[in-house]
Amino acid sequence: MIIGLTGGIGSGKTAAANRFAAAHGIHVVDADQKSRVVVEPGRPALTHIVDRFGEAILLKDGSLNRSALREKVFAAPQERQWLEELLHPLIRDEIISDLQSANSPYALLVSPLLVESGQNNLTSRVIVVDVPEAMQLARTVERDAVPEAQVRAIMQAQAQREERMRHAHDVLTNDGDLAALHAQVDALHKRYLELLERPQ
Ligand code: ATP
Repeated sequence: MIIGLTGGIGSGKTAAANRFAAAHGIHVVDADQKSRVVVEPGRPALTHIVDRFGEAILLKDGSLNRSALREKVFAAPQERQWLEELLHPLIRDEIISDLQSANSPYALLVSPLLVESGQNNLTSRVIVVDVPEAMQLARTVERDAVPEAQVRAIMQAQAQREERMRHAHDVLTNDGDLAALHAQVDALHKRYLELLERPQ
């Protein structure tokens, strides 16, 4: 059983996934991490990106300048589409091969764009970490030490809260402290083990 875990920026996906892994030994695959792996130096995707955007898209050490790329595609839907068509299948392959190595009772696929990217068709359930927007904003600004406007722009570009919730089988409401989040994760884990024993 593969369970998707999604939520907006700074909603608490990592905090929730860490609990599944640390307290319950659940194998966690992080789609964000895979999206960085596929553009590492030596990977074909990086060559394609340089062919399209020029050498200026690289940092001095030859690795991808991710923020420069983000700027290039942010306001250019066509470039963004080109990039997504290049990267999504590669990211998906990385995700699948990592999921195949899981040996916990179920595995978790953590992805901020689970639904938008179609990665949810790899999963049999979807957990949404839901948080009031003001709290999401405050936690992200504090974690990343970035301007509020920057976080707002990212929130705007991501699926809206209601849209995400439409895909949820399970919801983690992260408006309390970490202990409250952990208690919800523990309860979900118990439920999943029951589901595995007695599929409904
Ligand atoms: P991103 O999509 O940006 O990677 P995320 O969804 O993984 O974000 P986290 O990094 O888990 O979010 O959480 C955002 C910040 O809020 C972190 O600094 C985290 O420690 C903090 N945080 C998460 N949940 C709680 C909570 N219940 N109480 C207090 N702080 C929290």
